[in-house]
Amino acid sequence: MLKASKILKQYVNSELGSTAPWQTEAEVNVKFDGGFFIRGFADRVDKFENGEIRIVDYKTREYSKEAHERYKRQLTLYMIAVRRGVLGEANCLNFARAYIAYMTPNSLELVEIEPDELNFETEANTIVNKIRTENRWEPQITDKCNMCSYAVLCNINKYEQKSAEEEEEYLFSEDSNIAFLK
Ligand code: SF4
Repeated sequence: MLKASKILKQYVNSELGSTAPWQTEAEVNVKFDGGFFIRGFADRVDKFENGEIRIVDYKTREYSKEAHERYKRQLTLYMIAVRRGVLGEANCLNFARAYIAYMTPNSLELVEIEPDELNFETEANTIVNKIRTENRWEPQITDKCNMCSYAVLCNINKYEQKSAEEEEEYLFSEDSNIAFLK
């Protein structure tokens, strides 16, 4: 709680905290040539007097090169949305920049993202084609599944049940000496 209030203080004292955003939790739904949509929510969007759009995503962690690279895809989607008039104003080619706000109890650092739109579209097409041609899906169950909105589609209960049965089978199989020791 103390950590959260320190982060909040950093935010309030920053330029972000002293200006009202143009939009928050701005939904983007972008259609791609492959006939699919990708949806996301930009944490904060600012619009300046010269028409420039600034997209900001908040992360409560320190900046690192590796993490910044990972967030690139998410922000690239928002930049594509601006370019297509889905985020911002329709029929208006706003100039846009995207940033991650790295917030810790001691600092708030705004670091710009260099979007790679071509690579994003290629990767998205590859993933969608893979999903479309897959005829077998097995979820990779982790503790994050409990918080995932797609758990119903994944049918993880079925897989969890199956794993429990498999484990039981293993524990009681005659040639499983190690398991018998448990
Ligand atoms: S429930 Fe969510 S996190 Fe877990 S495997 Fe399915 S999609 Fe992935």
